Amino acid sequence: MIKTVDIHQEMHEECGVFGVFNHHQAALLTYHGLNALQHRGQEGCGMVSSDGTLLKQFKGEGLVKNVFKKKDVDALKGIHAIGHVRYSTSGGGGINNVQPFLFQSQNGPLGLCHNGNLVNANKLKGYLEQHGSIFQTTSDSEIIAHLLKRQRGSMLTRIKESLIYVEGSFAFLFLLENELYLALDKQGLRPLSIGKVGKSGIVISSETCAIDAVGAKFVRDILPGEVLRISKNGFESVFYSEDRKHQMCMMEYVYFARPDSQIEGINVYQARKACGKVLAEEAPVDADIVIGVPDSGMSSAIGFAEASKLPLELGLIKNKTSDRTFIEPNKLLREQGVALKLSVVKSVIKGKRVVLVDDSIVRGTTIKQLINLIKKAGAKEVHVRITSPEIKYPCFYGVDFSTYDELISANNTPTQMKDLIGADSIFFISIEGLIKGVGRKPGAHCTACYNKEYPTYLYDELKQANKEIK
Ligand code: SF4
Repeated sequence: MIKTVDIHQEMHEECGVFGVFNHHQAALLTYHGLNALQHRGQEGCGMVSSDGTLLKQFKGEGLVKNVFKKKDVDALKGIHAIGHVRYSTSGGGGINNVQPFLFQSQNGPLGLCHNGNLVNANKLKGYLEQHGSIFQTTSDSEIIAHLLKRQRGSMLTRIKESLIYVEGSFAFLFLLENELYLALDKQGLRPLSIGKVGKSGIVISSETCAIDAVGAKFVRDILPGEVLRISKNGFESVFYSEDRKHQMCMMEYVYFARPDSQIEGINVYQARKACGKVLAEEAPVDADIVIGVPDSGMSSAIGFAEASKLPLELGLIKNKTSDRTFIEPNKLLREQGVALKLSVVKSVIKGKRVVLVDDSIVRGTTIKQLINLIKKAGAKEVHVRITSPEIKYPCFYGVDFSTYDELISANNTPTQMKDLIGADSIFFISIEGLIKGVGRKPGAHCTACYNKEYPTYLYDELKQANKEIK
């Protein structure tokens, strides 16, 4: 017998970007690339293409497969394209904020898309509005277009000069008639990679899984602070800042990225599995079986079971049709909507002492419902093991837990949390354990949501909204 519960996704990445330069099927490749990045944002998606003289745009709210019909992709004629999948955390939802944006100015048309979040957006927007800028959207991403308009010189110079004012996380793509520019923030908080497709085509993607999905070959990752110009003459790489420090978001490895992606040379599945092994060493448990929470807890559960020599069982099954289909952009809609359906296999669970491995706990609602369901299915004990450290502080870099009050770990000790969610024990991997498991160089990562060590300056309005991080 299978029992089912509807649970809500607890955490969302803001966006994913994809681009193609110099390929006769640029829009079609971008469509498939965006499909492969769908896990990074389901609220809206779009594309801007260029045939060398004219830029065209198509965008809509919803999943890539629902927004784009074949005729829409065919209509985006051209040899260059950029695309975007969105989950809104900054500026709210609505079609106006769906990217890529397409701007017209005396310098010509500009397609623009952005993965990340600018921490000084309010300050910059206020300044720009006082000095005559009129914003078409409420998205922080539009700010860069207004900054660009105010600079002089070549596009490369204007991008460099504009980025000096911007702080936070960003992977930007800028499409002109016959040039494509990429820019990554000076901490390298979000991943961005390039690949080669066909004879002379270039692809750009937030994750390498989409480079693989379109049959392209990975070339390299974009470096923190790098601005890359791609034209028919090749690449031109410059840096907009001397003050660069490599601090990739650790949650990319823990939760956001697809297991088949390589983030800066580290495979996400292997990283999660290794974290499961470390967690089994840090917090062993006397139990009968290990089960993982689909999808992102599964890789860690494999590692945990292997290291603890316990059988790994398929105790939770994801409903194939749900697939993060109805993610909604705010709390009210999240509570009303069905984001994810998981089923418990009673015959696997009944009478067992279960280790439940998951990637993270943000608000605690999902895990509480799951434990309840597993216990109802007859589990003797449920021991929760989490492969991220406790998330105690908000993220301002594009993840949708941006207030202190939302975070269960910020407001409860693990013992209190164990009681709140109804577990028999709970343990989170240590920050050192996570770093060891993922295998990044010491210091080359952001861990601010675990230890408050924010890699950028935080502005007053963010601090005011979150008294605990002052
Ligand atoms: S605060 Fe956490 S989620 Fe945000 S960028 Fe840093 S590691 Fe990632």
